[in-house]
Amino acid sequence: MTKIGITTTVPLEILIAAGYQPIDLNNVFITDPNPERLVDIAEKAGFPLNCCSWIKGIYGVCMDYGIDTVVCVTNGDCSNTNMLMEVLKLKGLEVVPFAYPDQPLPKLMQQTLETLATTLDTTLETANVVRGKLKSCRDLVVKLDQLTWKDGLVSGFENHLWLVSTSDFNQDYREYHQQLQELIVTCQQRQPYPPETLRIAYIGVPSVYAQDLYRYIESNGARVVFNEIQHQFAMSQSGDSLAEQYSNFTYPYSICWRVKDIAAEIKKRQVDGVIHYVQAFCHRTIGDIIFRDALKLPILTLEGNNDFYLTQHLKTRIEAFLDMLERNRKGSKYNQQVLA
Ligand code: SF4
Repeated sequence: MTKIGITTTVPLEILIAAGYQPIDLNNVFITDPNPERLVDIAEKAGFPLNCCSWIKGIYGVCMDYGIDTVVCVTNGDCSNTNMLMEVLKLKGLEVVPFAYPDQPLPKLMQQTLETLATTLDTTLETANVVRGKLKSCRDLVVKLDQLTWKDGLVSGFENHLWLVSTSDFNQDYREYHQQLQELIVTCQQRQPYPPETLRIAYIGVPSVYAQDLYRYIESNGARVVFNEIQHQFAMSQSGDSLAEQYSNFTYPYSICWRVKDIAAEIKKRQVDGVIHYVQAFCHRTIGDIIFRDALKLPILTLEGNNDFYLTQHLKTRIEAFLDMLERNRKGSKYNQQVLA
């Protein structure tokens, strides 16, 4: 299969139906042994210091890994992608623009998907066959997610990793399925996390700290039981058609859809506190104002840029936040006893 880069989650069923193997460039960037090197490539090419590291990382991956075709999402993801797309064209890459509709309406989505299918010389009928094949992977991810928040058998990082990887199913959905099946069997034999462990929701784009953040949270008596965007990538609400599936995906649309989804999930998963990760120089950072207004739980906002490990300053802030949640929890138990 011909490899095709993607800048975020796109309807990969259509890409696979057209004979391409999608590669999520973000995942390649963040799992590179030396992601700083990829950011350097972009800065040497002229990307400014005050440009988001993910955009620079994607550019670095395109140059360093010899990617020659990229689907660039021009509406519903990142305004920087529009200019990244122009630079990639200048460098001789082939780009396929893809724009999510302005509203999550299946009728609009249907037209958008048809346009993409025609551009890539395939049909939605073929893409639907692929959708059927990916369904067993998506069902397994839902199982892993339940083992995380319901059964306490899967770590927040494992949850992040397997859910975020659904954007391209690690470039091989059959292997992904097999490996995830094996992991689930292993997890089912584990001892669950102690019930008193604090329960955290992680919202916002995936962080540049990856494992370091989850490890640190766990070393301080808490664990992530909800990874918002990663959960969206997995598309657990797949609906009756591709158009419904991608209309239920909250990430590309108004933040109000995300708020609704987060509020429902934090209630269901009995979350104690929220960590909102924001990327330096990203327009989505402003959404913090809305989350703080709408979500009725303590929120810690962490901003990352191009440090790929937690600094001491961030560690202290996380520790203080978790301490506060622990005191809240003890306080509310005490109040319940006093009032009973
Ligand atoms: S973090 Fe924000 S600025 Fe960076 S690529 Fe994602 S949406 Fe764009």
